[in-house]
Amino acid sequence: RAKTAGRGCSVRFEPSFRAEFDQRLELEQGLARALLHDEFELFYQPQIDLATGALAGAEALIRWWHPRRGLLTPGAFMPVANASSVSDAISLWVLRRACRQAAAWSDAGHPIRIGVNLSPSQLLFGDLAATVADVLATTGLSPSRLELEVTEDILIADDEAAARTFGQIRQLGVQIAFDDFGTGYGSLSYLKKFAPDRLKIDKSFVHELTIGTDDAAIVRSTIGLGKQLGLSVIAEGIEHTDTVGLLRSMGCDEGQGYLFGAPMRAATFEQTFFVAPRTDVGRGGRADAA
Ligand code: C2E
Ligand code: MG
Ligand code: MG
Ligand code: MG
Repeated sequence: RAKTAGRGCSVRFEPSFRAEFDQRLELEQGLARALLHDEFELFYQPQIDLATGALAGAEALIRWWHPRRGLLTPGAFMPVANASSVSDAISLWVLRRACRQAAAWSDAGHPIRIGVNLSPSQLLFGDLAATVADVLATTGLSPSRLELEVTEDILIADDEAAARTFGQIRQLGVQIAFDDFGTGYGSLSYLKKFAPDRLKIDKSFVHELTIGTDDAAIVRSTIGLGKQLGLSVIAEGIEHTDTVGLLRSMGCDEGQGYLFGAPMRAATFEQTFFVAPRTDVGRGGRADAA
């Protein structure tokens, strides 16, 4: 980096800068190795139908079993991954793995929706629609069970390219959700331009939701906006039982958050929701509960 930045100007290596650079380089090399050594794993977080308490879907969230540092969440490595050459390979791995898992669950009699987060380069470069079509074909997952999650900031980078890709994805029958809705720099016109299927209200508005607050006004308005446009709305970051009732009274369709379950390993997800579903907070029992 210093080399390219340094033409005609001098870059002084502060010790802290140097350390940061080394750390980043190590992380980048580690990411490439991680794919080869199968150190990534997808965790799954439940998405609950607030009216019935039934399981509606799961969001796939990447984790890295780092050989030295232990289990890492995406905040610790995705920013570096997205800026590196391994980004595309990781993204493809995530898409394949999530679709394969959802297809397996569907075959086992649990046809739930699977949410997959898109990285910026996936939407803006390459042929995402063709890749998605290929992954659906090889895994056998029904397109209607796949939902791709994008943040507004990804769309801003090149909204023409994004709109084109969205059109192709929609043709496949795959759904699109706006993630972290309300926190990005996107304008409301993006709702018209990209016509997503679902809004995911960001957890910052939801996690401490109480009646009469600014958060309540924002959440209520967002749900209303979504409903008016015929979109499904899901609230992220539900941590308290009281929040469920409040969201339900506001007409929110679905919820996701630690209250219903933190992101968990596939086997734990199956154990919790398919084998022995709990019947407490916010979720009804299942007729086929063991
Ligand atoms: P996101 O897509 O908005 O995912 C939701 C994040 O909120 C997850 O963090 C989840 O663990 C966390 N969360 C869920 N419920 C609660 C709650 O009740 N309270 C609080 N405080 N947090 C909650 P995580 O897994 O660390 O992921 C962070 C972000 O990293 C994700 O945000 C997503 O943007 C990105 N990411 C995760 N997996 C992937 C991936 O496979 N590919 C790409 N491109 N990005 C990913
Ligand atoms: Mg997401
Ligand atoms: Mg989110
Ligand atoms: Mg996020």
